[in-house]
Parts: sequence; structure tokens; C-alpha cells
Amino acid sequence: MSTPSEKAEIVVLGSGVSGLTTALTLLENGYDVRIIAREHFNNTVSANAAAVWFPYKALPVEKVVKWSNLSYVKFKELAGIPESGVSIIPFRIIEPADETPFWLDALPKEAEMSRRNITVLGSDFISYSCSIPLIETHIYLPFLHDKFLENGGTIQYQEIKNIKRLAKQHPVINCTGLGSRELCNDKELYPIHGQTLKIKSTKNTIGLAFDKFPNEPDNELAYFIPRSDCTILGGSAFKNVESKAIDEDLTQRIIDRCLLLDPELETEHIISSHVGLRPGRTQIRLEQDPEASIIHNYGHGGAGFTVSWGCAAEVLTLVQNL
Ligand SMILES: Cc1cc2nc3c(=O)[nH]c(=O)nc-3n(C[C@H](O)[C@H](O)[C@H](O)COP(=O)(O)OP(=O)(O)OC[C@H]3O[C@@H](n4cnc5c(N)ncnc54)[C@H](O)[C@@H]3O)c2cc1C
Repeated sequence: MSTPSEKAEIVVLGSGVSGLTTALTLLENGYDVRIIAREHFNNTVSANAAAVWFPYKALPVEKVVKWSNLSYVKFKELAGIPESGVSIIPFRIIEPADETPFWLDALPKEAEMSRRNITVLGSDFISYSCSIPLIETHIYLPFLHDKFLENGGTIQYQEIKNIKRLAKQHPVINCTGLGSRELCNDKELYPIHGQTLKIKSTKNTIGLAFDKFPNEPDNELAYFIPRSDCTILGGSAFKNVESKAIDEDLTQRIIDRCLLLDPELETEHIISSHVGLRPGRTQIRLEQDPEASIIHNYGHGGAGFTVSWGCAAEVLTLVQNL
């Protein structure tokens, strides 16, 4: 299986951002690839992501930095293709003044980062301004999906119950996100609840993310992300919360926090509200299974898009060495 010419069909499990990116990468490097997924990409966690390039709730740090950096470069390239749904936008990230955030190491030089000290509700912070990729999921996921099919990939919708049996017939790349709790009996995986809402676009909104909002619980944050057709407001990061019900009180707290940061946001009319369960894990599992012809690529937490191209490149290297 070291070269594509040997042509054993590879099965990629999952059609979220990890599965689609990995499948496309393998296909573009000459392998025959079939995606098998329980759900269409529209019904995945990936479809509920915000999404910007930003390494959030994903470990281990050194690898996440490397994968995020590689992905930034690829997203910059995709930003030159209007139908990809990727663009480079100005963004602000607010961090405590006494911490040096690790994500700075993942940011390429061209991101033009600047910083200034600010005070929010009496506490000191640094506001980092930089240019980062915006990934409009409702355009980007269909773009990846269609490109995969146009290049000769195939997709089959089916739930896989026994991954080891499948791996006896094909090399398998496991991109099932939270699905690996059952599929691989992985006890290190857990959901991280994220609630967002969409509002009307406001002219000239600059996106912002603020994880450690003063006087608020650790698992509630404030961010707003301007898309071409709306602005997304968030959010939450409740570990081990499985419910996908919309919490109206949380919606109001999100609005209040975001308005404090940008009073111009048009929050009177909510277009829709969403909940997604991020696939949290002690650390991203990207490795070959010691007992079977399976490469795992799941557990990307709040950074599935951010690390997607870096992880896919590493899967390719592992496949070449199978
Ligand atoms: C509110 C919110 C905001 C976010 N914002 C960002 C952001 O700004 N930037 C960022 O990088 N990330 C963000 N994320 C995180 C990101 O969405 C996830 O990390 C990413 O979607 C995980 O993708 P995945 O492909 O690994 O999993 P998923 O999207 O969950 O896809 C898993 C796939 O596996 C399939 N599957 C599962 N089990 C089986 C089985 N047994 N057999 C066959 N198929 C199976 C599913 O059907 C699905 O197709 C956000 C997430 C949320 C919820």
C-alpha cells in the first residue's frame, strides 16, 4: 500500500470536515477513495461550526500548532477560489494580559498580527488583531464534497458497526468524530456543547472571540463572526453536555455579552439558533491502529476546520507507509 499504483481502495469513514478533507487529499494523491458515512455532511457537527481558523479546545499543543499552521496556508490558497466559501478576514482575539497564548505560534507571519492593551469590565486584556481564514461551512462543505465526487471519489451512506471487520477488506481512515465513542469504545472522547445563533449581517462588523469573559463561567464565551449572509454569535463550551436543545437563557446571555463588545450588532431579529457537540478528546487521535489496517483521525474538539489540512497531510504520510 505504499504507492497509489497498488490501488487497494481506501475507505474513509465520515463525511464531516475531517472525512471530506482527508478523502480529497488521498484522492488528489492518486488513491482510490470511498467515503462511508452514517450522515450526509449537512447533518454533521461540522455543518454547525462557526467557523474560523482558530485552534480551540484541541490538544496536544505542539501538533495542533503544526497542523493549524499548515491548514492556514491551504485556506489562504482556497481564499483565491470564490466558490470555496473561504476568505481571509480581519479578526480580534481577546486574551488575559498575563498570558501568552499558544495559538500565536500557529499564526503565519502574513497574518499581520498587532496587539493592544484593553480593559473590559475592570480587568486587563490584550486584544490581538490579525487576518485569519473564515470558512463559511454551508458553502465550504458542499465545495469539498462536490470536488471529491468530480475527481472520481464515491460516497455510500451507511452506519459501520464493526470497523475491524471492514479493515480486513480495505485500509480504513477513521474520521467519525464523536462516533468513535461507540465504534472504537473510546472512553477519552466527550462532547463539548456549543450553542450559536444567526443574526442579520451588520455592515463593517469585525469578528471577535473572547474566551475568558470577566465574571462569567469558564464554559461560556463571546464571539461574533460575520459571514456573507449573516453574523454568527456564540457561544458555549459545556463539557459532557449531550443535549441539543436550545437554551433560551443562554441565547440571551450570548446576546448581552456580544452587545457589550459591539453595540452595533443587530440582535433584534434572530434568524436561527443551533447546537453542535464538538468531539472533545484528551488529545486528537491521529495514529495507525497497532492491530489493524486503520488510521484514526478524530477528536478535533473545537478546531476540526483549523487543523483539517494539516491532519489530512499526516494521514497521507501514514497511508504511504502502510
Ligand atoms: C458551535 C461550534 C462552533 C465551532 N467553531 C469552530 C471554528 O470556528 N473553527 C474550527 O476549526 N472548528 C470549530 N468547531 C469544531 C468543529 O466543528 C469540529 O471539530 C469538526 O466539525 C469535527 O469534524 P469531524 O469531521 O471530525 O466530525 P463530524 O463533523 O462529527 O463528522 C463525523 C462523521 O462521521 C460519521 N460517523 C460517525 N459514526 C459513524 C459510524 N459508526 N459509521 C459511519 N459513519 C459514522 C458521521 O455521520 C459524520 O459524517 C465548532 C463546533 C461547534 C459545535
